[in-house]
Amino acid sequence: MSEVTKKIEEMEAALFTADHCLSCTSCMSSCPVMEAEKKYLGPKMVGPAHRRMQFSQDDIEECLDFCSNCKSCERACPSGVAVSTLNMLQRAKYYETHAHSHCDDMLAHGERMAKRVRMLPGGPAIANLGMRIGKAMGVFGALGMAGERSIPPYAPKSFLQLFKDIRQPRSEKKVVFFPGCFINDNDPQVGVAFVKVMNANGYEVLVDEEFNCCGSPLVFMGYLAEAHEHADNNVAHIMKWQAQDIPVVACCASCSLMLKQEYHELFDDSKMQAAGRNVYDAFEFLEILAEKDELNTDFQPVEEKLLYHVPCHLKSQGLGVPAARILAQVPGVAVEQADAGCCGMSGNYGFKGDKYAISMKIGEKLFNRIKDADSDEVICDCGTCRLQIQHGTQAKTCHPVQILAKAYGL
Ligand code: SF4
Ligand code: SF4
Repeated sequence: MSEVTKKIEEMEAALFTADHCLSCTSCMSSCPVMEAEKKYLGPKMVGPAHRRMQFSQDDIEECLDFCSNCKSCERACPSGVAVSTLNMLQRAKYYETHAHSHCDDMLAHGERMAKRVRMLPGGPAIANLGMRIGKAMGVFGALGMAGERSIPPYAPKSFLQLFKDIRQPRSEKKVVFFPGCFINDNDPQVGVAFVKVMNANGYEVLVDEEFNCCGSPLVFMGYLAEAHEHADNNVAHIMKWQAQDIPVVACCASCSLMLKQEYHELFDDSKMQAAGRNVYDAFEFLEILAEKDELNTDFQPVEEKLLYHVPCHLKSQGLGVPAARILAQVPGVAVEQADAGCCGMSGNYGFKGDKYAISMKIGEKLFNRIKDADSDEVICDCGTCRLQIQHGTQAKTCHPVQILAKAYGL
């Protein structure tokens, strides 16, 4: 890397720090939690102020706990302060000296639980039955989770299990798919659709069973040291693929944001920034193909009226709406953007019992928009946003790549 590039990167990195906060309050007016919960003092008073003024931990603990890591504040900040990342760092610092609850432990370690469940014969069916009984008996509520919600059921076979049976045409053009926990264990058909779409574009899809969960739930719950281990492992594998000139692609906006941007911000490691350049969100990658005139546009008509909820973590990647732009080319598809703000789920935030009401209040605008839209289906590139939409509206949802697979007749 040249000296100039190095200097630019150093300057850009400095902009993420709290010292660039102007106290302009733009972040506060864009924070959905602050709008829904008056007890929350808001982004500027948590990460940046705490970092600069070193408040005592107990003074800010309640406020720190309110942040959902939706990153709306970061997108609003004219100084480029990584407000929600600072909040997550401060939350991790708090948990260096405070114990986590059982609820935090369960919500942060979904990957660990899924691996245990899948080790047992018939494990997913048994676990799903147990979760239904647990919900009916109020067990989850008693543990501090949102008892109003259903825990997403485990799919009978994970994506990685289904992948072994997919027959793909061999190709020189390859991508590695990063499924993430939710697609792997709960919604594997998104991953299957991605493989079909890439095959239709002449790519062979690889998987890497050495990848961990991206670590987003760990960061959100304040388990930063564990998240760092996940980051080190994932980055080593991304770089292995980078060395072979094979990109890594994710179908969950929270996973792709974590791999591309948050690792570097949280752990201040230039290797992580370099690895992030080899990671793409699915429709970002497909749009690059379109720009090179390499996207297969041999689409069959799909007669569907779609409402598109763009997840906060996709907005934070600054990509615009590549899925809407590509799906608009499919004959018969009508795509309208919901443009109704954050859904309120923010990964595991809405699963916490004491955050459920805030989560649903934030989602109200989107729920009303969906109820008024009269669409056939709501599309969204984030699995937990789709759960929130189903919970708040009973609308049918899918990932946009599943619509594209239909357009290829797959
Ligand atoms: S990340 Fe979201 S909830 Fe947290 S302070 Fe920023 S805007 Fe508010
Ligand atoms: S938007 Fe940025 S500069 Fe303005 S108060 Fe928030 S953190 Fe500070």
